[in-house]
Amino acid sequence: MSNKFGIANNELLKIRARDKNCVYCHKEMIYPFIRNKQRDCATIEHLNFDGPFYLKDGLQIKDIVMCCGSCNSSRGIKKLFDWFKTKYCTDKNINENTVATPVKEYLKRKKYTV
Ligand SMILES: [Zn+2]
Repeated sequence: MSNKFGIANNELLKIRARDKNCVYCHKEMIYPFIRNKQRDCATIEHLNFDGPFYLKDGLQIKDIVMCCGSCNSSRGIKKLFDWFKTKYCTDKNINENTVATPVKEYLKRKKYTV
């Protein structure tokens, strides 16, 4: 069994167990998805803004995290550092120093610079 991105359910369970709170705003997330609370629900987040989005295309499990619906929709397809500059992130104090460890590790891997 796997989800629409080709991620095995056991991998997703591990990611969900690690990322109980949003990796960006640290809000406690609801799972499974509740339609009228989607802003607080756990959603799958691809750290790579430009993919690959599917395992068959080379997606790395370590580039998958869980974030809340509102962070996910605010970020959209922005590069993380571009998103960090938006009002949404500055208001919530979301930046390279406040994000959860998996995101920090991703930024290190990608050698992002501000
Ligand atoms: Zn969030």
